[in-house]
Parts: sequence; structure tokens; C-alpha cells
Amino acid sequence: MNLAVLGAQWGDEGKGKIVDLLTPRFSIVARYQGGHNAGHTVYVNGTKFILRLIPSGILHPHVTCVIGNGVVVDPQALFAEVDELARNGVEVDGRIAISDKAHLILPYHRDLDLLLEARRGDRKIGTTSRGIGPAYEDKIARRGIRVGDLADPVGLEATVRDNVTARNRLIQDSTMDWRPVVEQLLTDGERLRPWIRDVSVMLHQAMREGRPILFEGAQGTLLDIDHGTYPYVTSSSATIGGVCTGLGVSPRAIGAVVGVAKAYTTRVGEGPLPTELFGEQGQRLRESGQEYGSVTGRPRRCGWYDAVAVRYGVRINGLDVLALTKLDVLDGLEQIEICTAYRCGSRTLTDFPSDVGQLAACEPVYESMPGWSAPTRGIRRFEALPEAARRYIARLEEVSGVRAAIVSTGSERDDTIIRDDIMKLQDGRIAGLQD
Ligand code: GDP
Repeated sequence: MNLAVLGAQWGDEGKGKIVDLLTPRFSIVARYQGGHNAGHTVYVNGTKFILRLIPSGILHPHVTCVIGNGVVVDPQALFAEVDELARNGVEVDGRIAISDKAHLILPYHRDLDLLLEARRGDRKIGTTSRGIGPAYEDKIARRGIRVGDLADPVGLEATVRDNVTARNRLIQDSTMDWRPVVEQLLTDGERLRPWIRDVSVMLHQAMREGRPILFEGAQGTLLDIDHGTYPYVTSSSATIGGVCTGLGVSPRAIGAVVGVAKAYTTRVGEGPLPTELFGEQGQRLRESGQEYGSVTGRPRRCGWYDAVAVRYGVRINGLDVLALTKLDVLDGLEQIEICTAYRCGSRTLTDFPSDVGQLAACEPVYESMPGWSAPTRGIRRFEALPEAARRYIARLEEVSGVRAAIVSTGSERDDTIIRDDIMKLQDGRIAGLQD
């Protein structure tokens, strides 16, 4: 059975660890959207790996990793990642495939990202300034350059020349020369060539051979370009639909969907966050959860678990189960709040509002739960959790409308509870969800 694993909140939910944990059951791990703004952190035997573009499945030698057409690729960032992996003894050659339809991030996209964000002033989005938004803009405007275009130097030259000329007009005093850009691309193309594939064909072939695929999402549901808190979103489809458009597979190919959610909430960048905690309480979560961006180092905004947001994620993505992460971060809190609804003026909302202005005006409706003093960190059996922690999880499940099949209690691969009664990992496969 193929499985999609995606973020059920505002990203940074710990998808990297969950994907890494489930990967032994799969032959292929496929990324379907985003760029190197994503940053999955995985610890294996004490070594820290930060993976931005290459699926974290690369840490398992039997796995082939796929970068789909829905991803935007910065060749320099990709090569840097490949080299870093090689330095740590992980060889990618023969184990990586990049869609010929994936769009490229070029040097002028990075410049534009910085410029446009600076011009937004108070209305900035909080982008990571890596050129990802402008690369997706070019894709939609039908002037983008795709990985497959690197095989056609004449066409490539014409498109780059047009794009650089347009950019020079847009940025005052800019005199970027298109020639070095083309030269660099042609060099990059040489290195990329052995990895370039028709990913849709490759995935269908794998499915015919009965080789299971894990579809790996980046960012999270509430950062999705359509279903997120627009305009404070990423430029791609982080929700389940992105699997189909970003890889060229049918919805029927997706066997089950795992949503990764923290036992609380975080968000990076701008935009409303109804359960945000300020002052000491927010700082407490930030410090004990080490809530600083793995790519940018930016402090994340922290708040209580928002069941309205997760319910929305359940609806949009058809989540079968949750993987609940970072339970241990709540250790030692006397009282924990769960947001079950929003109060918006005189109305109580139980559905996540479409309008970001309305969301910003919402106050969370909280339900208090007692905390626990005994540490949950590193606990690997559900029964070994303090009773208050088990109650907290049970209540989260009730108000979120989905069971938590996996509970993560630390950053190491093995600091994890897999609840056999909900989902079984056995004989190299996953059972209990839909098969
Ligand atoms: P991702 O982009 O969704 O993979 O999330 P990040 O990698 O940005 O953030 C997750 C961070 O939390 C990483 O540093 C993980 O090692 C860490 N992490 C994941 N699960 C747990 C957990 O259960 N407890 C703790 N304390 N840390 C965790």
C-alpha cells in the first residue's frame, strides 16, 4: 500500500522523523511540492541530517528518492545537499530521480524574492528568500525553465535571455548578464543528467511491480497555496491534491494518508495563529521544543494545540490517522489547553474560516487538561505514558476527529510509540489502515 505523509498544521511538525521511521516499509519516497525552503531534521545514531530537497528516505540504502514535477529545484542547493550526504557516507547516485518537468530556481529568482519581500513592508509574508515563490510564479506565468529544458541549449538561451531582460527592467539599476546564467545552467545540466527521469512513468512502473511508495509532503496544510491562510502561505500545494499534480499519479494510487501534527502548534513567519502564546508561556514551548527554523534559524511562534485547524486538515486531506509529535515538550506543564473552537464576535466557529481577516479576529475557545510531571521523553509504549498524557491524547483524538496511530516522544528514530491497535508495522509493511 502506498502512503502519503504530510503536515496537518503550519509545517515543521516533525514530518522528517515520521517519514524516516516509516521508510523501511517502502521502496520509493517521493517529494511532490516545495523547494529547499523545507528542512527536515533527522537524527540517526546521534548524527544530525538536515534534508531540504532530497527526501529523507535517502538515509535508508534500499530506497530510491524521487523529486517530482511539483517541486522547484535550485541545482546549487541540490548539489550542496548531495555533497554533504556524501561527506557523511550516504551515496545518492543511482538512488535519486528528478522529474524532467520540475521547474528550476535561478539566480534571478533569489534576487526577486528578496526585493519583493522588502517592498511589501508591513505586509511581508515571511518568505525564506530562496527564490521559491518567484520560481513558482514563472511556472504559472508559463515562462519557467524546467529540468528537461537543460537538454536544449538553444531554447534555454532564448528563455533565459527574455527572463533576465524582463528582470533587469523590473529591478532599478540592475544589469544582470544572461550569458553566465546560461553557462551555469548548462554545467548544472551535465551533473543533473543521470538523475533526470519521467517520474510519472517511473512511479507507475514501480506500482505495477508492487513496490510501495511513500509520498512525502513539505510544509503543512495551513501553508497550502489554496487551502492555507492565504496570502501567508507557501507557493505550492502542500495538501493531498499536490501528490497527484506534483508526481503524475492518480488519487487511487494513494492508499492512506498520515497527518503529522505536534502536540501543540507552531508557525514560522507572518499570518494569524489563533492559539499563539506570548511572553513566558510561548518562550517555554519554544525553548523546550527547540522551535527555531532548521534552515533559517528563525524563532517559531508557539501556541496550544488547535483542534479546529487539525480538523480542517482531516477534512481537506482525508487523514486516516495522525502521527502526534513532540509530546515530551509538554512534560512538566501543570495545565495544558486544547483549542476546540473559535469565538468570532458573537459567533462560535467550529470550522476553520476561509478568510484570513476573520481568522485573525478569532479568539480560541479552550478546554483545560491537567498536565503531567513524570517525563514522557523516550517512552516507547503507550501504556508507559503518564495517565494524564494518555488522557490528553485521547481528548485530542476526540476533538480532532482522528486517531493518533503514532506518538513521538523524542527526536531519535526509536523514541516513538506505534499503537498496534490502530496501525501495525509488521513484516515490512503497514497494516490496519485501509488494507
Ligand atoms: P519537519 O520539517 O516537519 O520535518 O520538522 P522539522 O525537522 O523542522 O522539526 C522537527 C524537529 O523536531 C526536528 O528537530 C526533530 O528532530 C524534532 N522532533 C521530531 N519529533 C520530536 C519529538 O517527538 N520530540 C522532540 N523533542 N523533538 C522531536
